[in-house]
Order: sequence, then C-alpha cells, then structure tokens
Amino acid sequence: MRVAVVGGGPGGLYAAALLARQGHRVEVWERGAPDDTFGFGVVLSDDTLGGIERADTVVHAALGAEFVRWDDVEVVHRDRLLTSGGHGFAALGRRRLLEILHERCAGLGVRLRFRSPAPDAWALAKTYDLVVAADGVHSATRESGAAHFRPTVTEGRCRYIWLAADFAFDAFRFEIAETAHGVAQLHAYPYSADSSTVIVEMREEVWRASGLDLCDEEESAARCAKLFADALRGRPLRGNRSAWTRFRT
Ligand SMILES: Cc1cc2nc3c(=O)[nH]c(=O)nc-3n(C[C@H](O)[C@H](O)[C@H](O)COP(=O)(O)OP(=O)(O)OC[C@H]3O[C@@H](n4cnc5c(N)ncnc54)[C@H](O)[C@@H]3O)c2cc1C
Repeated sequence: MRVAVVGGGPGGLYAAALLARQGHRVEVWERGAPDDTFGFGVVLSDDTLGGIERADTVVHAALGAEFVRWDDVEVVHRDRLLTSGGHGFAALGRRRLLEILHERCAGLGVRLRFRSPAPDAWALAKTYDLVVAADGVHSATRESGAAHFRPTVTEGRCRYIWLAADFAFDAFRFEIAETAHGVAQLHAYPYSADSSTVIVEMREEVWRASGLDLCDEEESAARCAKLFADALRGRPLRGNRSAWTRFRT
C-alpha cells in the first residue's frame, strides 16, 4: 500500500513506523522543522508502554534508554501532603520522543518531509491507498471532513499553561493553591534528570480575575512561579511557545 500521513507529531510518526514495518510505502508531511515542537516532557504509563513494547520493540528499547521513572503521586492541599505509591510512570522530553520516532521512521525507509504543509487529505486520497490524518487536536482534516466524520468537540472550562522548571520533581505532584481569586492547581512531573513539566490550571473566571488573561508568556511564567514558589523550591519557570489555552476533547 502507498500511505500518506498528514502531520509528523508522535501520532503520525508512530503510525508511519508501524505501517512501514509491515512493508507499506509511507510518506509523512510535517509543516514544522524536525526540532520545532511545543511543550516539554511527555509521561507514559506502564500500560501505554506495554502496548508500545508489543507493537515495536525497537522504539520501546530506544525510549527505555531515555526515561526518567517514578511510582508516586503526591497531592498537596492546605499544607497537607498525601502520597500514593505503586503507579509506574516513565517520561522523556517531547523533542527527544520525536527524534527517536524520526530515527525509527528513517531506518524503516519512511519518507519524512519537514517544513512541508501537506496537500489536502481528500486530494491525497486520490493517489494514495491510505491517508492517515494525524494533524493534531485542531485537525483541519477533521474540520474539512466534518460532514463525513461528524465529530463532537468540547472544550474544558479551565485555562492551563504548559511550562517547565529546571529541576526534577521526584513524583507526579498535584498542588492546590487557594488564591484571593479562586483555586489554581499545579501539575508537575520530571522528564529528565534536571527538568520537569509544570502545568498550571484554573477555572476561566479565576484566570480572568487574577489578570492572567492580560499576561504574556514571560509574565505568566513569573506569576505562576511566585504562586507555587514552595512546590518549585523558589525556582523560576520557563515557557516554550506557551499560552493559556483550554483542553479540547
Ligand atoms: C499540556 C499538555 C500535556 C500533555 N502531556 C502529555 C503526556 O504527559 N503524555 C502524553 O502521552 N500526552 C500528553 N499530552 C498529549 C500529547 O501532546 C498529544 O497526545 C500528542 O501530541 C498527540 O500527538 P499527535 O501526533 O496526534 O498530534 P500533535 O502532537 O499535535 O502533532 C500534529 C502535527 O501535525 C502537524 N500538522 C498539522 N497540520 C499539518 C498540515 N496541514 N501539514 C503538515 N503538518 C501538519 C503539526 O505541525 C504537528 O507537528 C499533553 C498535551 C498537553 C496539551
């Protein structure tokens, strides 16, 4: 089969590798550069890793060499720390995850086109046997094919921002802060020996009342670092194309 994959994120690349392993001729279009990604670390549960191991041991082994691993989930509320153990998580940087998948795809003969917006999926379908639409949470393919796919899209009521800290938490940490404007939550985990993903989330009305809707990336990072200074051991936060947005389902 000739396969066209629209989007070279983790989903598109992994699908490309698994299809190429089965002997199909696969091409991936990615509009960004190879090292051009948003966000920071990605955490995978033991369950997910089991699925990856069964599907492709090469990718599993490459991920295994990079992982930071931990078991605990910590919840901090009103100065009380609750720890729950035995969960089993592993994480790595999103950029490194993409590099591993690039290498695997290249080794399997997948043609990777970077800085290349994909042709329209419906046009690709005329010349390819299979088109994989892996163009992300704001998928233009899903939109242009809405009459066919009939998607239901809902947006969460919270705003969140994806930031990072330059030290490693030793657990998944959820910390709740009661501010003058309402509740805010920190959600953090390590993804390398000296870096952690930090997501700060709050209801839309709390976000607006706090004035965070008027802050740019740098100011948002500074205010979040101040709000969660204890959890962050007084360390700063940094962004990477970080903006306050909502989770979409
Ligand atoms: C704050 C946050 C934290 C997260 N943490 C985790 C986590 O810990 N663990 C986890 O498993 N997941 C996590 N996720 C989810 C994870 O980011 C997504 O599940 C994953 O990125 C989905 O991969 P994807 O390939 O489907 O989409 P994406 O990663 O969005 O990739 C889509 C790609 O398609 C490209 N593209 C789009 N349109 C075109 C076009 N027309 N032509 C060419 N290229 C195009 C884009 O440039 C992009 O590279 C998190 C998400 C967020 C927002």
